[in-house]
Amino acid sequence: AKEAGKNKIIIFNEPMNEAVTQRAQIEKHLRTALERNEFELLYQPQLDMTTNQISGFEALIRWKNPELGYVPPNRFISVAEDTHLIIPIGKWVLRNSILFLKHLHDRGYTDLTMSVNISMLQLLQDDFVDMVTETLELVKINPKYIELEITESILMESYETIAKKLRHLKAIGVRIALDDFGTGYSSLHYLKHLPISTLKIDKIFIDNISVDKRNKCLTHLMVKIGKAMGLCVVAEGVETQEQMEYLKKHKCNKIQGYLFCKPLPYNEIIKKLERKP
Ligand code: C2E
Ligand code: CA
Ligand code: CA
Ligand code: CA
Repeated sequence: AKEAGKNKIIIFNEPMNEAVTQRAQIEKHLRTALERNEFELLYQPQLDMTTNQISGFEALIRWKNPELGYVPPNRFISVAEDTHLIIPIGKWVLRNSILFLKHLHDRGYTDLTMSVNISMLQLLQDDFVDMVTETLELVKINPKYIELEITESILMESYETIAKKLRHLKAIGVRIALDDFGTGYSSLHYLKHLPISTLKIDKIFIDNISVDKRNKCLTHLMVKIGKAMGLCVVAEGVETQEQMEYLKKHKCNKIQGYLFCKPLPYNEIIKKLERKP
């Protein structure tokens, strides 16, 4: 801390100042990122463990700025939320990921699905359901191939409003996935009250499956709950053969993770699909 006058002390220390400046930099460049075409989408395949085939993808945003370089989503999504820039960015993500899926369907890969991360702020917009409906109509894709991933933290706020919108989306035919399952405060409450189709077990549980008996039990339990409720259960962040085998043994429906495939740009996804019989 620096001294500023006799009794005053500036409470910002250097690292904090740095963080504030960094956020300001991110915000400044984020404002023009869409128009300057600085975003890209990567797609991470999900492996269906019963068919041993790719069943679909999760769209993951990437941002490369000429001045800041590559900025990971964990660094800029919160800034995008604070500034409400997530609204146009989220719309861009939805539209482009669905367009890519449509392209794959037109190429003959007609059963593939697309999962899209949705921010709380998007869900809270009055026109969110309309925006989704319009996008689906514009692209002419059956809603059943689209899954919106929401995180538990999203749901803490305006619970009833959000529940209503999710029911509306479900009625349209869109699937809802509960992302990062098990990391929030009221996972089971959400599971009971919201129209969830898919449960995504968070990576923190998968990570130590082989060494941590508790994680093993919790993972097993989450798969069991999900399956008993008729949901599709997806395990995230699967990195080892051992993790995959454990999940397979307990009949987890799908896995996503570096072991099977990392997130790839669209041209590499097409190559990957074409290589497969
Ligand atoms: P998430 O939705 O939980 O996405 C999973 C993250 O885990 C992704 O990080 C993915 O690249 C990474 N991942 C997948 N498999 C593995 C693995 O085997 N090992 C490890 N270590 N990591 C793995 P990413 O792409 O950096 O995204 C981070 C977070 O940013 C996402 O977490 C999501 O919350 C958010 N995000 C990404 N794209 C979007 C978007 O388009 N919209 C919104 N609202 N949020 C997004
Ligand atoms: Ca996700
Ligand atoms: Ca997740
Ligand atoms: Ca996450």
